[in-house]
Amino acid sequence: MSKTPGNLGGKLRRARTQLPYLPKVMALAWAAAPAWTLAGGGLLLAQGLLPIATVYLTRALVDGMVAARATGGAWPNVRHVLVFVAALAAVLLLSELLKAFAGWVRAAQAERIKDHISGLIHRKSVAVDLAFYDLSEYYDHLHRAREDASYHPAVLLESTGSLLQNGITLIAMIGVLIPFGVWLPLALVASAVPALVVVLRCTMLQHAWRVKCTPIERRAWYYDWALTSADTAAELRLFGLGKYFQSRFQSLRQRLRGDRVRMAAHEGLAELLAGFFALVVSGLVMAWMIWRALRGSISLGQLALFYQAFNQGLGLVRSSLGNIGRIYSTSLFLGNLFEFLRLEPKVTNPPQAASALQTLARHIRFEHVTFRYPGSERVALRDFNLVVPAGQVVALVGPNGAGKSTLIKLLCRMYDPDGGRIEVDGTDLRDFDLESLRRVFTVLFQQPVRYNATVAENIAMGDVEAAPSAEDIRAAAAAAGADEIIARLPGGYETLLAKGFTDGTDLSVGEWQRLALARAFLRQAPVILLDEPTSAMDSWAEADWMDRFRALAAGRTAIIITHRFTTAMHADTIHVMSGGSIVESGSHAQLLAQEGLYGESWRAQTQAVS
Ligand code: ATP
Repeated sequence: MSKTPGNLGGKLRRARTQLPYLPKVMALAWAAAPAWTLAGGGLLLAQGLLPIATVYLTRALVDGMVAARATGGAWPNVRHVLVFVAALAAVLLLSELLKAFAGWVRAAQAERIKDHISGLIHRKSVAVDLAFYDLSEYYDHLHRAREDASYHPAVLLESTGSLLQNGITLIAMIGVLIPFGVWLPLALVASAVPALVVVLRCTMLQHAWRVKCTPIERRAWYYDWALTSADTAAELRLFGLGKYFQSRFQSLRQRLRGDRVRMAAHEGLAELLAGFFALVVSGLVMAWMIWRALRGSISLGQLALFYQAFNQGLGLVRSSLGNIGRIYSTSLFLGNLFEFLRLEPKVTNPPQAASALQTLARHIRFEHVTFRYPGSERVALRDFNLVVPAGQVVALVGPNGAGKSTLIKLLCRMYDPDGGRIEVDGTDLRDFDLESLRRVFTVLFQQPVRYNATVAENIAMGDVEAAPSAEDIRAAAAAAGADEIIARLPGGYETLLAKGFTDGTDLSVGEWQRLALARAFLRQAPVILLDEPTSAMDSWAEADWMDRFRALAAGRTAIIITHRFTTAMHADTIHVMSGGSIVESGSHAQLLAQEGLYGESWRAQTQAVS
């Protein structure tokens, strides 16, 4: 089991620094559900005051009964007793009603807060840089933030509410106890001190352990996903990986479980000792009061009042301790959520953005661009220079890992280069408004997303803002050579492409690629960036598609990344990349004549085919 560093003083200092999250959670609750929060507060107050009425009515009832007995059951005294019984019953009934009502209010409030926080997390997830996805800490934060979002805010509010409610009742009970002896409330509170220390210490240890174990937890989740996902199902069966992943999952779970069980044992023991101490203190106090009643220093009604107040006080202190523990633990965990929400993207808009481009008039230029992925030692692009004139179709070829896809990501400003600059029509990318810059491009990424949606929706996602018509969607599908594939589907454009849902179906890899191309074509952008558009096409389809693409791209600028020379040869200019730089450039004929890397690879590819 992990040990929390530092002594108790240090721990308490850290405990204090976490509490500022409490007002933040309150603000969050207010923003998410103001009316419910107000209703919850009102109910808390009412619920806090009712037990005081119960205590006083009990005293009046017992004293009334003693008086009734002393007068031999005289009707006026009995009537008195009956009035108190009725009042007590009404108070108890009301407290049950309030309890039920408060439960409903809390549930409604919790649901709203949960959805509000999910909304904040989703907004942040799509706003952060792609660079965050390269850092394991980001996933750790996200993992904890998402887990915490589901229930911690509600627990925090409930515990705080409960603590306040208990606090109101406790103060009143202390008021009841003081006439019996000023030291009684002190004894009540003192009996709880060891338990408070135990609660805070255990909470801190749990939190430190949780932070340390997040990567292990995430890895266990990964194995769980791999064992149950459609993406891995075929390989898992073929390579017999099921048992292997299961044993990995189990061994991680065993580690986590072992730690948890050990922590629970320590907690249990510490709680037992603290509970024993509280029991001794309250036992001594009760013994003293009974002795006083036997001596006749207090009436039976007073003893009943004391017993109720002290007993309730003990219960309240105990449940307040639980609440303090939960408040502290949830505010520690909510720290993760607020840390996540504080992440700020580095790829941002400049203070004075250049006006949006409607079209590419001159060129795209990479000037001495150097780039490493965040957290990586390897250079993906090294002193990279390239000019793509407007209106040209340019192909980029080169071995795996040469930096071709990286270039597209930099062009769309998913990342900013570490050195050098990228210009569009002479203006640095960083000087454009980000959103309008991204509208200049349409992209087919190397691994396009397969959206769980209908065929038409999958294409329309290329430009949801423009709300494309059925005609636009059909035209994009035809340009991508996807129309025939769609015509063969049972529901045509309305076919649901989601195998996991009722009536859903799936496509082949090549068919999905055509659909992703249609999505890219739907967006009427002046620059088309395609990463391996023909990799999953058969050679007939490829030739047909290239002809159509040239017609579609007429008047626009296109960069095509490809491993197929039969695709690249149709470009106006071909650039050969290797090790993050351009090593050869020219038309197909020029490059063949140069007899360099391109010529060599061309001959190897064509000889392999012939
Ligand atoms: P391929 O032909 O295999 O698609 P590519 O030329 O498109 O390769 P890139 O994807 O641009 O190559 O990758 C360039 C270099 O950057 C490679 O060395 C790769 O390992 C590295 N790289 C790519 N993505 C990341 C990442 N997210 N984090 C760290 N390194 C990365």
